[in-house]
Amino acid sequence: MTTSTSATSSRLLRLIPPAVLAIVALLAPVLLPGDRWVRVAALALIYIALASGLNILVGLTGLLDLGFIAFFIVGAYTTAILTVRLFVDQLGFDPDSLWWLFPVSLVAALLLAGIAGAIIGYPTLRARGDYLAIMTLAFGEIVRIVSINWIDLTGGSVGIRNIPPFGVGSVELVSPAANYYVVLAMVVVILVALAGVVASPVGRAWVAIREDELVASSMGIRTRRYKLLAYVCGASIAGVTGVFFAHMQQFINPDSFTLEDNFIVLSLVILGGAGTYWGPVVGATLWIFFQAIARDWTIVQEHPEFRTGFLALIVIVLMILRPGGIVSRRLKLTRGSTPAETKPEGVIMPPVENVITPAADSVAPGTPVLVVDGVGRTFGGLTALGSVSFEVRRGEILGLMGPNGAGKSTLLNVLSGVTKPSRGTITFRGERIDGLESDRVSVRGIARTFQTVRLFWDMTVLENMLVGAHERLRGWVPAFALRLPRHRHDESAALAEAGILLEFAGVGERRNDRASSLSYDAQRRVEIARALMTRPSILLLDEPAAGMNESETRELASLITAIRDAGTDIVLIEHDMDLLMSVSDRIVVLDHGEVIASGTPDEVRREPAVLEAYLGSDA
Ligand code: ADP
Ligand code: MG
Repeated sequence: MTTSTSATSSRLLRLIPPAVLAIVALLAPVLLPGDRWVRVAALALIYIALASGLNILVGLTGLLDLGFIAFFIVGAYTTAILTVRLFVDQLGFDPDSLWWLFPVSLVAALLLAGIAGAIIGYPTLRARGDYLAIMTLAFGEIVRIVSINWIDLTGGSVGIRNIPPFGVGSVELVSPAANYYVVLAMVVVILVALAGVVASPVGRAWVAIREDELVASSMGIRTRRYKLLAYVCGASIAGVTGVFFAHMQQFINPDSFTLEDNFIVLSLVILGGAGTYWGPVVGATLWIFFQAIARDWTIVQEHPEFRTGFLALIVIVLMILRPGGIVSRRLKLTRGSTPAETKPEGVIMPPVENVITPAADSVAPGTPVLVVDGVGRTFGGLTALGSVSFEVRRGEILGLMGPNGAGKSTLLNVLSGVTKPSRGTITFRGERIDGLESDRVSVRGIARTFQTVRLFWDMTVLENMLVGAHERLRGWVPAFALRLPRHRHDESAALAEAGILLEFAGVGERRNDRASSLSYDAQRRVEIARALMTRPSILLLDEPAAGMNESETRELASLITAIRDAGTDIVLIEHDMDLLMSVSDRIVVLDHGEVIASGTPDEVRREPAVLEAYLGSDA
């Protein structure tokens, strides 16, 4: 009783900030002293939209873009050219009758800016760091220079005038307050849609890429596509914003978009809090109002360039005092209600066997499922794997042992598609998988963990788990933006499944904790549970007991056996000989990149080559 009342009141408390924000936003034109400040507020809204769009790239996905304004320019010129150049100048329409063209412009700008996003995004997929920064900067400048010099189309430095104002039928919305409300509507739509996309497989994929691209890929996420998608979504938002901006100003010229604006918008994102939801909103609002206030200062009137100088100074000081930006509230990556700490009464949880292998499996125990044939891998002159052949059979735990540097982790990387083999073939359930990207290997049913734990540290445990469910939750961006109920339902099912797996892995009570706050033992268990979330038929474990104490290791052994009993085959690399010998059905021993022995634990134990290579070197 008390808990439900406090839950209700805390939910009400959480509604207060957005409610206050909504009231302030709605009353702003009344509260602000005079039209000048209403115009400032409308400009702040434009910058909120731009910063939120750039935040998808910079904050969520971790991709730098120094030429973001280019997409804004594409949007603004699209509507100006379509409306003024084409419909008024060429086709002779009366500008006052063109209000119906606005939605057409919006769609055109959305598409063109999206295409521009794909064009700039595509070559940058392989570029990183400095190269990416230079390429985006160059692209932004190309667009701006074209807008200045293609005089026939853009009017050159004069720009395009007489863009019709917002309106419906014969009603023109020209007052600053009317403009403000139209742009406010745009921002609300963008922010609501963005919240839907962020708390979906798309948003989680973006953040997963930012956190650890390799792990994201091993969870089945096509990382290059999602990076491209981030560019397209960010660019589309900027394009739409450009359309509103052009109609609000009723004219555009190249002075409306300077090179500096790229850095200003980027600074706003960083100032407010990159990768948070409200950061760009706070950063843009504070900055635009500060800038408007500073305009009256004599020092700024004498030296207008000081305005940007102030921004730079504020950003630098803030980066020292508060590196994460003003807003620190973590992004919510799922809107599904997290399952209660304890099992809800009356709900029958499916047994874990059904969660681990949901599809009926027709392969008879003992049949080879993963066949490795003559696989080798060299790094420059170093042969990490010579020519390795073995098989994994249905229903078994295959132990992989060997001294440090024997090539065990390299073998696991090759099996999971992280590294390409230099020679040899890998066949999984009758199909070749060598040469597949690691995301495709994951989707086929091979999951893995890493020698050093690699969780998405900034996500909660449940969010980590949901990334594992990416393949079966993924869908269209518009469907997530519109928050269609089907996705919500799928997400709840995945959350319930995550709850069962976490319970099974012994970390059920940590589900709402941030991954970075977990103990080492819990991190290992969450990593295994997350791998199981991909519903693998084979699980590859790279030294899961490293760093655990004896009792933790013993409990881990029973977890590994339980996973196998539930229907997932296991390849286990382990340094701890006792653990490996006690849980493995068969063991393959590697040394210097070659298989030197294989068989049951007892056979391997008696093998002289093993004693010499492994125990000899280890003792
Ligand atoms: P293990 O996991 O059995 O300890 P690894 O597979 O990590 O061994 O390493 C096998 C050998 O391959 C080592 O000599 C290691 O230095 C080398 N190696 C592994 N990965 C790379 C890489 N990406 N580049 C160069 N050498 C590598
Ligand atoms: Mg290793």
